[in-house]
Amino acid sequence: MIGMDEKLSFFKNGVRLDGRRPDELRPIKIEVGVLARADGSCYMEMGDNKVIAAVYGPREVHPRHLQEATRAIVRYRYNMASFSVEERKRPGPDRRSNEVSKVSREALEPVILTSYFPKSVVDVFVEVLQADAGTRTAGINAASVALADAGIPMKSLISSCAAGKVDGEIVLDPMKIEDNLGEADVPIAMTPNGDITLLQMDGRLTPEEFRKALTMAKAGCEQIYEIQRKVLVDRYSSMDEPESCDEVEGLSEEEI
Ligand code: UDP
Repeated sequence: MIGMDEKLSFFKNGVRLDGRRPDELRPIKIEVGVLARADGSCYMEMGDNKVIAAVYGPREVHPRHLQEATRAIVRYRYNMASFSVEERKRPGPDRRSNEVSKVSREALEPVILTSYFPKSVVDVFVEVLQADAGTRTAGINAASVALADAGIPMKSLISSCAAGKVDGEIVLDPMKIEDNLGEADVPIAMTPNGDITLLQMDGRLTPEEFRKALTMAKAGCEQIYEIQRKVLVDRYSSMDEPESCDEVEGLSEEEI
């Protein structure tokens, strides 16, 4: 606990409280296809954030009046488990989760080829199991992988992370204490080409600091993209079609 007159220093010998350099992401872990009942799913850890994304669809829209004649609609529900935060969160949607759901949907929608599936819906559910700042970005990363896992046609993946300002320094991927006590937080999402699909800002930055934060967050997204891509390639290359019936024990050639 820090006393009122004590000032917490966010850096020690140039490194952050968790040992990271200012431009370093937290450790990332991604697992694909973790839910049997979803069409696509992904479990993701970004530092101490733990999120799970489930994708269903394209499927019939209920209620029907939401149907669009020429394209699929995309729904995104971000939900924070009541046990995911230090102080128990009241279950159910609130202003914050509605906002996060909206911006996350808007971050992913531009790459989804919705015109392939008129009158249908792609449902994305993101459950935050453990939160440590950056849950919207972790959710978007997991959802992007889960959409790919569901076989939803997309122009590209979307990668997301934030940059922030603490002790006057721009840092990548702020953790909870940096987010809470820091001076600014800039979450972004982007395509591998660098097209931004989410840009938010909490706090204040000078134009120069903002440019630095954006450059840093974009570099973070590039690293995350490589991890997302590798996880998907590894999963699907290990599920290659067998080349001959000899590779599938117990099945006749007609059954393969
Ligand atoms: N948080 C919390 N209780 C809440 C909402 C948020 O403790 O009801 C914490 C949680 O750790 C979250 C962080 O505050 O990750 C930052 O929240 P913010 O709204 O900035 O979204 P995020 O950074 O998670 O996308």
